[in-house]
Amino acid sequence: MKKLAEIITTEDVETIFETIHAMVALVESDGRLVSWNSAFECCKKIFPSAGNLHDLFAQKDRSILHAKLTNGMPGHWAVEFPLDGTGPAKYCDCVFIPIHNGSILFIAERMESDIALQEMVERLNRQVKLFQIESEFTKKIARNKQIEMEAVMVQASEVAHVDPLTFLINRRSIVKELQDEVLRAERYHSMLSISIVDVDNFKAVNDTHGHPIGDEVLRQVAYQLRESIRHPDIVGRYGGEEFLIILPNSDSKAAAEQATRLCRQIRETIVHVKEHEVNVTLSIGVAQFRAGMDTWDTLLSRADNAMYEAKVNGRDGWAAAK
Ligand code: GH3
Ligand code: MG
Ligand code: MG
Repeated sequence: MKKLAEIITTEDVETIFETIHAMVALVESDGRLVSWNSAFECCKKIFPSAGNLHDLFAQKDRSILHAKLTNGMPGHWAVEFPLDGTGPAKYCDCVFIPIHNGSILFIAERMESDIALQEMVERLNRQVKLFQIESEFTKKIARNKQIEMEAVMVQASEVAHVDPLTFLINRRSIVKELQDEVLRAERYHSMLSISIVDVDNFKAVNDTHGHPIGDEVLRQVAYQLRESIRHPDIVGRYGGEEFLIILPNSDSKAAAEQATRLCRQIRETIVHVKEHEVNVTLSIGVAQFRAGMDTWDTLLSRADNAMYEAKVNGRDGWAAAK
């Protein structure tokens, strides 16, 4: 097989120039430009004063170019080469073909894979951007959902702990508080008292004024109890018209003083609902926790018994547990 350099003539070079779309230039062995085709013309337009191939290559590629020219290094060479004046240099597949008269044919063609690669990279970039936007959006939705969930949880927890009529904590919660306080009193040998508060003759209130008015009276009594107790006392709705007050760090004497005050306050209050005027009284049973003897439920039942004693004693008053 003959070498291309042996069979290609200067006329052949002219034909090659005219027929192929790649950039072609005929150069001397030192890289000096002799002639070129119209595709190569665009490089010349960017660098009009370029008289040597070296002028068209980036500094970093010049040593390889030199080696290719002087040693006749064969093979293709992918190098960044200016294709037009608008964008950055593009990767070109370059090849040097030595010709018999000592000249060299330089052919540079934009790598098609480069275009495909670039399009793929652009497409991937677009997808990444889209993904970023979507993930931001998803994160936002997730955040909003979490806030909604937290609000629902807060509401659910309120529903679970609050009595909807009086807005006091409900029976389950006040009993839980009592259990905790009993444990604390046992552990720290601190005092603890409780009061069971029952509205007197409340059935008669309902019968006389109607159930909705009875509800409003219960709300008012609950409000007064909550406003009248002092920190750290806690009040909850224990049953229909019954309330439980917990008095941490208090003996039965303090609980009795509070009971006296509450009885007086409710006695002196006239509840106005629409055209109705309602006045109720309370019976209160007070019990002090006896460490080593009481549990939370025996304490409750002692207070309950005391409350019935107050009823027996004529209502509108308090009694202390034995
Ligand atoms: P006593 O002085 O012995 O406690 O008499 P009382 O009438 O208060 O006691 P009783 O246990 O016979 O009646 C309690 C009444 O409280 C009956 C019940 O219908 C009423 N009640 C319980 N819960 C509610 C409520 O949520 N709203 C209203 N309006 N009434 C209620
Ligand atoms: Mg009752
Ligand atoms: Mg009652």
